[in-house]
Amino acid sequence: MMNKALQILQKYFGYSQLREGQEKVIASLLQGSDTLAIMPTGAGKSLSYQIPALLFEGVTLVISPLISLMKDQVDALEQYGVPATFINSSLTLRETRNRIEKARLGEYKLLYIAPERLETESFASLLESLPISFVAIDEAHCVSQWGHDFRPSYLRLGPFLQGLSQRPLVGAFTATATAEVKQDIVRLLRLINPKIFVTGFDRPNLTFSTLRGENKKVFLLEYVQAHPEQCGIVYAATRKEVDALQAFLAGKGIKAGKYHAGMNDIERQQNQEDFLHDRVNVIVATNAFGMGIDKSNVRYVLHYNMPKTMEAYYQEAGRAGRDGEPAECILVYSPQDVVLQRHMIEQTTLHPERKLSELKKMQEMVDYCHTTRCLRKTILEYFGENDVPEECGNCGNCKDDRETVDFTIEAQKIFSCIYRMRERFGMNLVAEVLKGSRNKKVLELKFDRLSTYGLMNQMPVQEIKDCMNYLITENYLRLSTGEYPLVKLEPKVVPVLKGEAKVFRKVLRKIEKKNADPQSLFERLRVLRRAIAAREKLPPYMIFADNTLREMAESCPTGRTALLRINGVGEKKLEKYGAEFLDEIQAYVQGRETLGV
Ligand code: ADP
Ligand code: ZN
Repeated sequence: MMNKALQILQKYFGYSQLREGQEKVIASLLQGSDTLAIMPTGAGKSLSYQIPALLFEGVTLVISPLISLMKDQVDALEQYGVPATFINSSLTLRETRNRIEKARLGEYKLLYIAPERLETESFASLLESLPISFVAIDEAHCVSQWGHDFRPSYLRLGPFLQGLSQRPLVGAFTATATAEVKQDIVRLLRLINPKIFVTGFDRPNLTFSTLRGENKKVFLLEYVQAHPEQCGIVYAATRKEVDALQAFLAGKGIKAGKYHAGMNDIERQQNQEDFLHDRVNVIVATNAFGMGIDKSNVRYVLHYNMPKTMEAYYQEAGRAGRDGEPAECILVYSPQDVVLQRHMIEQTTLHPERKLSELKKMQEMVDYCHTTRCLRKTILEYFGENDVPEECGNCGNCKDDRETVDFTIEAQKIFSCIYRMRERFGMNLVAEVLKGSRNKKVLELKFDRLSTYGLMNQMPVQEIKDCMNYLITENYLRLSTGEYPLVKLEPKVVPVLKGEAKVFRKVLRKIEKKNADPQSLFERLRVLRRAIAAREKLPPYMIFADNTLREMAESCPTGRTALLRINGVGEKKLEKYGAEFLDEIQAYVQGRETLGV
């Protein structure tokens, strides 16, 4: 059976090897065991159920939570030559019946449905008439209230499966690995003696880094400008922030989209599509964006605010580099994030015990932002992996060779100013006083008479605040809780004020510029891919992934057989696009020969 799986992998998807996790999951399903697969985003969950679906008799139902993405998933399968369709509330009753009829006649191997559909009895009984051999439940953590995307309609799945006259094989797939979620999936989906596989969580092509004490906005702008040809996602915590950042980037001439739950469906859909089709490079979004987005050429995921939990972070960051090419995941931390997150948790109506657990998870996220250990190791250990090497050599901390500068004088000025203001004011006012501003509040409170007034007048207010943020992240200062956080001194400042200890700070990180060479074959293939994508009205990555293009550019295949050997070129795509790519490669090779290079 595994041989057949490999044949399918090659024929349809154009890959020569299964990844380790995929192999185990597929083998288990092919043996007929209910299976729960916990795999990190980008590890290749989809193939783990699509390959069995192609091998089983009859049809496979795929439960997928996002209606807006079903069409994309089905389009992608059609590109590979896999017969598939979807049924969701966007279809008329007639079209729905039509598709079910075709499914009954064996015209599709995969049928994607939204879980909400099962709530109507009539629909559920329509499904009874199909020869369903396998049900694959994508994003299975949605069944759990402990997860971050709880969807009540997932609760219908267990009873639905049990109610079928012949219970099909069930596979559940998720990237969430916590014990509560795992138990909920098994119990609520009523899996029968499931085999559970947790795939290695490492994503070697991702470079993780955390930044503290940066001016976020400046960093964001410079980073996006330094990566003009690349696609990236910028996650921010609130709708308001998303709106502001998108406007800010657009104002600087950057093609940026946005996505959050406060926008209407049409607007959201449009922005999402612009991003999938590479019409905008950057999308600024809240965590509402991304589930099920399998755009493979996302080159960076930048978190403008700290997410609530490590699970959420890894899932969001994991949307970078699904094609296996190098990609960056950067978290820009500021202490205000913690205040905001804590506030959001405290405002919820959660059970006190749950609140405590959320706060604990948030603290682990804060620790991640501060650690100087290898970030990859920190993440992998969080997800329960042992024997992780001390250093990965490919994260912000392992690669940190920035210079350290003495920051004691500035720190002393800030500490004594806060002390003189009796720790009773927020960051803004402290910064204004240090700046020597004549703002009304400063004068009213007579802070212009303090000895620390104007001590840092050579620095812009924003930079003074950046310095304070740095001192907060290093635990010299602390923000009080509440809506208007006050800056407080921590015991660590005492020896600094007495001149007995020094404060150091790393110089800011330099952003490497990534400019593409338009003459290179890779860039030429990208241009061709964009043209084909526009013609076919598909996102470019569905034509070929970035790494497929890169492999083509490196090995310059000259014929169909050689092209078929490239990862990501299956039979159907060879037939559809092979000639155009071969022509482009040949034109490039000939051009070089004429130039004599
Ligand atoms: P997930 O759903 O786990 O986030 P996907 O199923 O979207 O991940 O797969 C991520 C990427 O990896 C896709 O671009 C897919 O084509 C690619 N991929 C999956 N399996 C393989 C494989 N065995 N060999 C090479 N590439 C693969
Ligand atoms: Zn590392």
